[in-house]
Amino acid sequence: MSISENIRKIKSGLPPEVTLVAISKTYPKEALLEAYEAGQRVFGENKVQEMTQKWEELPKDIEWHMVGKVQRNKVKYMAPYVHLIHAVDSIKLLKEIEKEAAKNERVIKCLLQIKIAEEDTKNGITLDEAKEALDSAEYKSMNHVKIVGLMGMATLTEDEAKVRKEFSYLKTCFDGLKETHPAFEVLSMGMSGDYRTALECGSNMVRIGSAIFGERNYN
Ligand SMILES: *Cc1c(COP(=O)(O)O)cnc(C)c1O
Repeated sequence: MSISENIRKIKSGLPPEVTLVAISKTYPKEALLEAYEAGQRVFGENKVQEMTQKWEELPKDIEWHMVGKVQRNKVKYMAPYVHLIHAVDSIKLLKEIEKEAAKNERVIKCLLQIKIAEEDTKNGITLDEAKEALDSAEYKSMNHVKIVGLMGMATLTEDEAKVRKEFSYLKTCFDGLKETHPAFEVLSMGMSGDYRTALECGSNMVRIGSAIFGERNYN
């Protein structure tokens, strides 16, 4: 199937309130343009440099999401345009985003990445650390970053019950924090292999790469 057919097929299975982020890392800009022509306007990348190059070359009404781990010294390159940073995992990183967003006179939306998988290769913080960050005087003094929700990655496994348990836990974290943080609106969970389960667990933003663009050669 073509990229545009994949997008139409995936979109037709998503409730209207769910945002599809097309994860375009490693794919050439021609592939992104094909998705764009099929109506896709939200793209996600995991490397700042690659995203910035694509931002420069592609139509300006695209919404760019950074879904990968962010090095603090790279924040400045995306601060002028990034729409949502999914994987914030420290106050240090938030401070850097605050600084660069201020320089650009912008408010940058962020998600906190919660560690929900057992494997230690997965990044993220605990629920307690997320609470601590949200309630810190430091975060409260920031006027150019806004934490609008949570992101998580489930264990890569065929064991659907395990994936469901991890996503359900993240939804519980989200609902709990939303009670005291009304800005919470985004729950980013679900990729090509597990987004249907994520939707059943309450996701409202799915990050789908290979099911749209085909298999990647590298990560
Ligand atoms: C690559 C990536 C995805 C998309 O993965 P697919 O399995 O290709 O859908 C989603 N989220 C993050 C953080 C990624 O790095």
